[in-house]
Amino acid sequence: MLTGRRFLLSLTPEQVAYAEKIGAACRAVWNTGLEQRREYRRRGAVICYEEQARQMAAAKKDPACEWLADAPAQTLQQVLRDLERTCKEHGTWKVHWRSKSRSAPSFRFPEPKSLAVRRLNRRWGEAKLPKFGWVRFRWTRAIGGMIRNATVTRDAGRWYISFCVEDGVVEVAPNEKPAVGVDRGVRVALATSEGQMLDRQTVTGGEAKRLRRLQKQLSRRKNKRSRRRKTTRSRFATLNARIRRRRADFNVQSAVNLVRNHGLIAVEDLKIDNMLRSAKGTLEAPGKNVRAKSALNRAIMSKGWGGFVRKLEDLARYHGATVVKVNPAFTSQTCYVCKHVARESRESQAVFRCVACGHQDNADVNAAKNIRERGIELASAAGHAVAGRGDLGIGRSAKRQPLARIAA
Ligand SMILES: [Zn+2]
Repeated sequence: MLTGRRFLLSLTPEQVAYAEKIGAACRAVWNTGLEQRREYRRRGAVICYEEQARQMAAAKKDPACEWLADAPAQTLQQVLRDLERTCKEHGTWKVHWRSKSRSAPSFRFPEPKSLAVRRLNRRWGEAKLPKFGWVRFRWTRAIGGMIRNATVTRDAGRWYISFCVEDGVVEVAPNEKPAVGVDRGVRVALATSEGQMLDRQTVTGGEAKRLRRLQKQLSRRKNKRSRRRKTTRSRFATLNARIRRRRADFNVQSAVNLVRNHGLIAVEDLKIDNMLRSAKGTLEAPGKNVRAKSALNRAIMSKGWGGFVRKLEDLARYHGATVVKVNPAFTSQTCYVCKHVARESRESQAVFRCVACGHQDNADVNAAKNIRERGIELASAAGHAVAGRGDLGIGRSAKRQPLARIAA
C-alpha cells in the first residue's frame, strides 16, 4: 500500500536559499501556466500538459529565464502536471493563483530513480535530491519500503521532506469487529458510540490568550508591507503550527485506538455539515452562552477533522476496517431509542433526554450512536451491489469515497 512518511529537514543556509528559489520558480510556473490556460480558454481553445512542458523547456534556453534552468526540471514539470489535474478537477477559472505571502513553498521530485536515502546514525538520515545534493533530516522512523517520490515543503519556518512509500503490505481483508460511531464532541474532542471520550488539551490557556493577542495585533497592523506586521505574522504562524502538530498527534493516536477495535467506523461528513449550515444558518449550534471550553472543543475538532478522517482512512486499510462518512444533520437532536427529533431533547450540553420517550444519555454519545447507525445503513446499502450514487442522501462526497471500497 502507498503511505506517507514525513521528516524534519535540517538544511544549511545555502540549501534553504536554494529551496526558496525552487519554491519561487514553481510558483511562477504555476501562475504563468494558469494564465496561459485561461488565455487559451478565452479563445475557446485548450492547452495540454505536453505543450506547456515543451514551451517551458524552450523558455529555459532563454538567458532571461536562467532562474528556470536553475530549478530541477522534474519539479517544474510536476507543477504543470498538478496544474492540469487541478484545472480538470475544478475548472480553469476556479483554480487559484499562488501568492508569495499566502502559499508556502512546496515542490515534488516525482522520479524515484533520481532519489537516494541513507541513514547516517541513530538520529540522522540523508536524502539525495537532484541539483540539491544531500540534505539531512531527523531520522524518526524507518522508511519501510520503496520510495515513489519526495516532496519538500516549508511549514511555519520549518522545512520537511515527505516520501511517498510503497510499503509492500497487502490490503487487509475486512474484519468482523463491531461498528462504532464517532461524534465531534462538545465537551470532549471525540465521543464514541461506546461511551468512550477521547480528548487532549491541544491549546493551553496561555496559548489561547497569546493567539487572541497576536490576532488583535495583526488586525491593527494594516500596512501589509510593514516589518512589524511580518513579525507578528510569523509569531502567529509559529504558535499555530505548534498547536497543529499537537492536534495531529492526538488525531493519530485516536485513529489508532479506533481502527484496532472496529470493523466499521462512521464519522460525520463535515462538508455536508457546512453546506447545511450555510443554507439554514446554524442547525445544531450549541447555543450562544456555552462555556468557552465547549465552543473551543468543537472549533478545534472542526479544524482538525479533515486530518483526523484522512488519518483514520489511511490506518483503516491496514486493519481491515472501513470508514464511512455520514450526513450529520440532526444527529444530536435525534433520540437513539425512539428516533424522535426535537431540539428540546438536548437538555444541556452534556445531557440528552428525549421529550418523547424519556431516554437519557450523554448528549455526545447519543449523537455518536446515531452516527453509527447511519454508517451501518450506508455500508449495507452500498454492499448491495450497485448502490446508487445520489440516492443515499449523502451528497457529493459520496462520489469521492468510492462506494466500491465500502462493499469490498
Ligand atoms: Zn426517545
